[in-house]
Parts: sequence; C-alpha cells; structure tokens
Amino acid sequence: MNEFLSDIDLDFAGVSGAPKRIQPPGPIRRLFQRIDDTNDFVMDIDWSTFSGYMECAQKAEYSMIYSRNDGGSIALTYGRAIHKGLEEIYLARARGHLEVNWAAVVSHINAEYSGLPFEADWRTPERALDTLLKYDTFYANEPYSIMADEHGDPFVEKPFSYTLCAIPVNKTLLHKTSQLVKSEENNDEPLHVGTIYVNWTGVIDLVFMSKDDHLWPVDHKTTSIAGPAYYKSFALSGQFIGYCAAIQHLLHQKPAGMLGNFIVGRKASAKGKGVSHALERELYTYEQWQLDKWRYDTVNHAEKFVHDLSDNYFPANHTSCQNKYGLCKYFATCQAEPSDRLQHLMSDAYVFNVWNPLAD
Ligand code: SF4
Repeated sequence: MNEFLSDIDLDFAGVSGAPKRIQPPGPIRRLFQRIDDTNDFVMDIDWSTFSGYMECAQKAEYSMIYSRNDGGSIALTYGRAIHKGLEEIYLARARGHLEVNWAAVVSHINAEYSGLPFEADWRTPERALDTLLKYDTFYANEPYSIMADEHGDPFVEKPFSYTLCAIPVNKTLLHKTSQLVKSEENNDEPLHVGTIYVNWTGVIDLVFMSKDDHLWPVDHKTTSIAGPAYYKSFALSGQFIGYCAAIQHLLHQKPAGMLGNFIVGRKASAKGKGVSHALERELYTYEQWQLDKWRYDTVNHAEKFVHDLSDNYFPANHTSCQNKYGLCKYFATCQAEPSDRLQHLMSDAYVFNVWNPLAD
C-alpha cells in the first residue's frame, strides 16, 4: 500500500470546508478491462486523462487509479453543449439537409445543463444556442467537404480506439482487483497483471477534406482565452498530433495537420466593451516524424505510468500545482497530511469518474 494513501476506513461525511459535489449517474470508470479469462488487460488512455499523468503523476493516481475528479465546471458544460450543437450542424450538412434540426440542438443543450450542481455564469444555455446560430451563419459556406469513415458515415464526433503497445508486467499488484478492473466490483483479491495492452482512445470532432485532397481533422475549442500566444500553444499539442496519428491509423492517409476551430466567448465588460464573441480558425501542419515521435513519447509515458503503478508510487510534480486556469483540482487533497489524503479524496469534494470517450 502506498504509504501516502493509506488503507483506512473511509468516513465520506468527515471532511468539512469543501463544496459538495453531486455524483453523476453511470458506471465508475476503471483503469483496466480484462481480456477474456486471462490476467492480461486493456488500458484505455485518452488525452484528457493521460495528459494529467504527464503533468503530475500524483494527479494521475487520483484520477486514473482512484477514479476521482472535481465534478466538472460551467466551462466544461458550456463546451459540451457547443460540441453537441456543432455535431448536429455538421451531421445535417453531411446528409445534405438544408436546415439544422434546431429543436434537437436545444434538447442537447438542455440535457447538458439539467441537474447542474453549480450556477451558470454568462455561459448560459441561451448563450450556447446564440453562439451556435451565429456559427452556422458565419461558416455557411465551408471551403471543405466532410470526410466519411470506412462505413460511409460522416466523420463527425467519432470515437476511436487502437492498440499502441503491449507492456509485460507479470506481477501481483498491491491494489485490489475491484479498484482497477471494470465489472469486477466484488473481487477484492490483489490484482495479478500479466500484460497490459495500451489503447489510444478519444473522440475526433470532425474530419474535413480540402479541395486539394488533404485531410484536416478538426478540434472544436470553446475558450475565453484568445490571441496569438494561445493559438501558437497548440502547434506542439500532444492532443493534436495524437489525433493526426489516429486519423492516419484509421483512414490510412496522413493528414496535412489539424484545424483548430476556436469558439471564443467572454463576459462583456460593464460598458459593453471587449470581445464577447469571436470565431477563429488556425491550421497546424505536422510531418510524419512528428507523428512517429508522438507515438514513441506516448509509449514511453505509458511505460512509466505502468512502472509507477507496479511500484504503487506516483511522484508529485509541484510545478503543475498552478497553471493559467488556476489551482490544480487536487490542491486541497495534496495539502492534507498523507494519512488523511485518501479520506479527503473520497469525500464529497470529489465524484467518481463516469465519463468514457468510447461510451459517449
Ligand atoms: S496539487 Fe500539485 S502535486 Fe497535487 S496532484 Fe495537483 S499538480 Fe500534483
């Protein structure tokens, strides 16, 4: 047992001072899926969770091993509502429909906003719909066509999953099987692991084809940050390069690069000044060597993750405790005495992860 996360009797109601989070419905996301009746496992890694490991291994232990997170934010809710609306817009266009099904868009937005445990700020459902209406008009005449997948379906909000590497472990871990393996909640035996097959997973928002027959996977970003420095930060994005690698794997054609589709929104100032709404696009080209290096690097990180898991020790990286978005969501847990941390992590300041890119 990790000495910093001791195996204690949990008192979920015992932590005060933290905001109460509402557990979303759905099965708890677990790290491993057993392959048939073997001791081999599939481990899905997606960008949003695995980039946390690259920032700070301790963060990954909280989110990937204990499956705890802070329950989301209004920015994430607004972003998901915009994504659902863009999915309707591009599916309508791909199917040759003259009109977007706006009733379906409103229904998606309402579903995203229903039962939120926090208040909406300027990112209201009405604002989301207004942004989507403006987007549909602004990009009414795209200079691109929408790619189809291998079944002829529009490549819009498509999940992907394929194996990057196999990592032999051959060790009994200190973790209980129930903690790490999907659908084995009643098995409290220590988990024996033979080989871990690491799957690269995610959801690609859209794939465009340009008039010169180049593929451009698209990632929609809702953001309140804009400007050259922000856009430039995606030029070496592991997510963008990894999505290009995924498209090359799926469609057997190397994309020219990624199209960053930025939907910028901010609260207008009291005097009505400042940009409250903008639509921007940037193209990021990637060479084959960058896709290859992304794969080597990701496999290397996955091997280190498995090493940390096998040792049951995930080191902290305090340079990641604060970033441009504010404090790390686990800051309060890391401030607690090591012997209190697991109790804090399991308090209602956090919820279990139920999101899975392959299930959405
Ligand atoms: S607060 Fe700092 S050390 Fe703790 S998980 Fe976050 S980044 Fe890591």
